[in-house]
Amino acid sequence: MESWEEPIETGEVPEDGVVFDVIVVGGGPAGSAAAAYNALNGCKVLLIEKGVWPRDKICGDAVGGKSLSHVKELGVKGMIEDTPHFTVDSIIFGSGGGNTVRVMLPQEEFEKKEAGYSLPRLQFDYMMFKRCSEIVMENGGSVIQGFTVKDVHLEEGRVSGVSGGFGRRGDEGVRRYSSPLTIGAGGYSCPVAKTVTEVMHGEPMRDDEHYCGGFREYWEGVGGFSGTEGPIEIHFIDEFNPGYFWLFPVKEGVVNVGVGMVFAEQRKQKGDKKSLRKMQEWVINSHPGFKKRFENAKLVKGSSKGWQLPFGSPRKGGQPYQPRRSAAAGAMCVGDSASLVDPFTGEGIGNALLSAKMTSKHFDKDAHSGGFPEEAAAAYMEELWGALGPELSNSYKLQRWAKKKWLMNWVIGKAGRSEELADMMTGMIADKEASRQLWSKWFLFKTLILS
Ligand SMILES: Cc1cc2nc3c(=O)[nH]c(=O)nc-3n(C[C@H](O)[C@H](O)[C@H](O)COP(=O)(O)OP(=O)(O)OC[C@H]3O[C@@H](n4cnc5c(N)ncnc54)[C@H](O)[C@@H]3O)c2cc1C
Repeated sequence: MESWEEPIETGEVPEDGVVFDVIVVGGGPAGSAAAAYNALNGCKVLLIEKGVWPRDKICGDAVGGKSLSHVKELGVKGMIEDTPHFTVDSIIFGSGGGNTVRVMLPQEEFEKKEAGYSLPRLQFDYMMFKRCSEIVMENGGSVIQGFTVKDVHLEEGRVSGVSGGFGRRGDEGVRRYSSPLTIGAGGYSCPVAKTVTEVMHGEPMRDDEHYCGGFREYWEGVGGFSGTEGPIEIHFIDEFNPGYFWLFPVKEGVVNVGVGMVFAEQRKQKGDKKSLRKMQEWVINSHPGFKKRFENAKLVKGSSKGWQLPFGSPRKGGQPYQPRRSAAAGAMCVGDSASLVDPFTGEGIGNALLSAKMTSKHFDKDAHSGGFPEEAAAAYMEELWGALGPELSNSYKLQRWAKKKWLMNWVIGKAGRSEELADMMTGMIADKEASRQLWSKWFLFKTLILS
């Protein structure tokens, strides 16, 4: 048994009725980090996860530079480096017309081992949950696995706690816990996010224009990869437009292979193109650019699975907060529960960790002991969109831009030949706010036409 497959010891289940400073629903990267950051702030935290470790999470498995600073701060980076992983030095973008450009990640960050890794979420999430649970318990809190939160309670217009239980339906050993702050970290269908949006404010939680379907498999022996260091690949394929196909090596000989498409676009497709699984099968078996690379490859049994990505793209409709409401009196949501996945790259772990840390800045256990107030919830949402809005908005523009096959083909072809454009893309990855300049007409003209 590998070290990340061993059960994680999380101590005794607290009695029914116990009061905490903070309850966190969901023990993925966002919930684990939110629990740890609040515990480090002196809070008595209850971290609740419905799964029991080791548990898989369908993902592309890329852990970018933004995530690594948090991973380091929480003491998990060394744990990752001690297990099999792939070190990412660059991203290859491919267009339907067969053009490619390799964008190097910033050299300085690569040398400091801060540019990015990819490794199965089975491993990454295990280490995050294990370390963060230790931090929670060292600071007087509790951790429960195998417990599904079924109800989020409201008292006087404020989230006041949760209840749920064990077993497949969450109805065994039912318990209720209370706290002035509940953090929603239950992913794309988090019950806390549902309460904050639909129940408390009558605003939609889900939006198919901004929710994306993703399908993932692990393959061994894919052509074009060797070793444990190098590029990850994202391809825009004409027959699968607007969507993307990725190849992310996760350790020696194993590659995470997947496809993704926004639900509203998926619905417009016809025949086999409606199914992500069938599209992936087609790319692997029939696409002229890829079938050769899979000739000697072998599917890892049981790894074909789908999941959803709630994008952080700005939404129309006049709602007061972007990308949607993520907090209310008594509650803050983080990660996928706050719909923060980058709409161009599909990365969500970095923003999950950033939002997790931000909750610990907005919650003060003494000042908010009577309940986390509405004004503090508004301040959290404003700071969150202030920090992520510019890059999420830029990524949304890039996502819509990628729908234009001819433009994508031309730009990637041009970038493949232009050092200036490839360098600019490296700069965009180092500092996503720099991608604003991409939208300056003069800059586009100078770079694409004159270079
Ligand atoms: C196909 C695909 C590819 C992706 N590729 C990448 C990538 O390469 N890089 C990247 O950074 N991001 C990627 N993402 C996005 C990334 O997976 C998410 O953004 C990230 O997992 C968000 O973390 P989270 O903790 O918010 O949510 P999750 O990881 O979904 O964790 C939520 C946790 O809450 C638990 N939970 C849910 N409901 C309850 C309940 N009622 N009670 C108790 N517990 C509950 C779940 O069991 C789960 O453990 C991808 C996503 C998909 C679907």
